[in-house]
Amino acid sequence: MTAILTKQAPPQRPFPWRCRASGCGNWSVVLAKIEYYITTERGGVLLDVRIPELEIPKCKDCGELVFTDAVDDQIEEVIEAHLEKQA
Ligand SMILES: [Zn+2]
Repeated sequence: MTAILTKQAPPQRPFPWRCRASGCGNWSVVLAKIEYYITTERGGVLLDVRIPELEIPKCKDCGELVFTDAVDDQIEEVIEAHLEKQA
């Protein structure tokens, strides 16, 4: 079984990014590690999932979170792992 997933980091613009929150617009978005809770629905069941260390671009000034594909991937992985544990 070759179950090794080679994850290629998608090319990303270098930080900091410009914050897109209204009233902010500062170049203060950098990659942060945060604890994140998400409620998601799978097969008609609501799941509360905790992600202890989500790497996500975040504005240092206003706290705006920027959801990227990489962030979605992390969330998806945690949800999958969560579901496997329950199975
Ligand atoms: Zn901001």
